[in-house]
Amino acid sequence: MSDFNFRSVKLSDYTTIKLGGAASKFVECGTDKDLFDALAFAAEHGMRFHVLGGGSNTVFPDEGYDGMIIYVNTKGIEKAGDLFAVKAGERWDDFVKYAVGLNYSGIECLSGIPGSTGATPIQNVGAYGQEVSNVIETVKAIDVRTLKAVEFKNAECDFSYRNSRFKSKDKNRYIVTEVVFRLNASGAAEIKYKELDDYLGTYHGINSLNNVRDAVMSIRGKKSMVYDENDGDSHSCGSFFTNPVLNSAEFECFISVCKSLNLEANSFRAGDKYKISAAWLIEKSGFEKGYTENGIGISNKHTLAIVNRGGSASELIEFSERIKQTVYNKFKISLEREPEVVLG
Ligand SMILES: Cc1cc2nc3c(=O)[nH]c(=O)nc-3n(C[C@H](O)[C@H](O)[C@H](O)COP(=O)(O)OP(=O)(O)OC[C@H]3O[C@@H](n4cnc5c(N)ncnc54)[C@H](O)[C@@H]3O)c2cc1C
Repeated sequence: MSDFNFRSVKLSDYTTIKLGGAASKFVECGTDKDLFDALAFAAEHGMRFHVLGGGSNTVFPDEGYDGMIIYVNTKGIEKAGDLFAVKAGERWDDFVKYAVGLNYSGIECLSGIPGSTGATPIQNVGAYGQEVSNVIETVKAIDVRTLKAVEFKNAECDFSYRNSRFKSKDKNRYIVTEVVFRLNASGAAEIKYKELDDYLGTYHGINSLNNVRDAVMSIRGKKSMVYDENDGDSHSCGSFFTNPVLNSAEFECFISVCKSLNLEANSFRAGDKYKISAAWLIEKSGFEKGYTENGIGISNKHTLAIVNRGGSASELIEFSERIKQTVYNKFKISLEREPEVVLG
């Protein structure tokens, strides 16, 4: 086991929500070869493993993790025309900043999202009207069963709202090593969100990519949705639940529940479906901003973010399950958890 310079770490130091016990087999992988070697070692020793990027969408258990933690820290960005090949361990926001600096558009609204580039295809990261699936050309990965390099074209990734094959049917099957993005050299900013559009008015309508990035960072900062060591409200996994998407029949049912409660439904059209604001459902179920129990609570600035104020992972799970149950009892809607909850 010495081959690997296994380190012992506190997993809470590697997640933005600062939860999780000890791991004694932590391997930092700075190259793709390190990733192949770690996987081969785990296979040879029948060792279970967990793949970790920036830890901004992960909850580790209080008792720690007894297998190998494969920490993806590969770096590099290669540009060829409109294509940008980005190694999995590159900080996502460093890449956004780089692309905006070169005046390439397509990801400017995704400024300030914490974590690694390799994790962005997993849940098809999105914000303010953009999603990575709109600009991903290919995802390169290692198949953990065969230890072979594989490549997926965009259409093969099964991207949908906060989901992909990597989070559904092929969960834990691949380690993403590189993501290739096709960005737009025109530098034309894409503004689909009213909140962003309103904010950009302060720049007298000059929607340069730099202004859009600044606006997004500022809006996110006010909601503590940019990770900041000194801002306790950002010690979260971002949104803890996705916005429920209902078909027409489910939507009718939701409307009648709202009527019976004398509430005006908060929803918006998404193709032939309806997206309901999870934040609204949570607030209307009695969990207001700032509400805290046992060191776990709701952010003071964003109802969808559950924050750690000195609690434990088990308290977080208990709290989130109670929110889920209360929302279901009131609205008959099941909230889906967004972050990965790792078992000990
Ligand atoms: C303050 C805050 C704001 C946020 N805002 C947003 C937002 O606006 N939109 C949004 O979509 N998300 C948001 N998030 C969630 C999070 O930042 C994203 O999901 C991000 O992509 C996670 O990246 P990560 O490297 O930290 O992933 P991790 O937490 O390390 O891992 C998340 C999952 O991806 C897997 N994974 C990680 N790297 C790889 C890899 N190389 N190969 C295979 N699997 C891998 C892990 O095993 C795990 O299942 C926010 C989080 C925080 C804390």
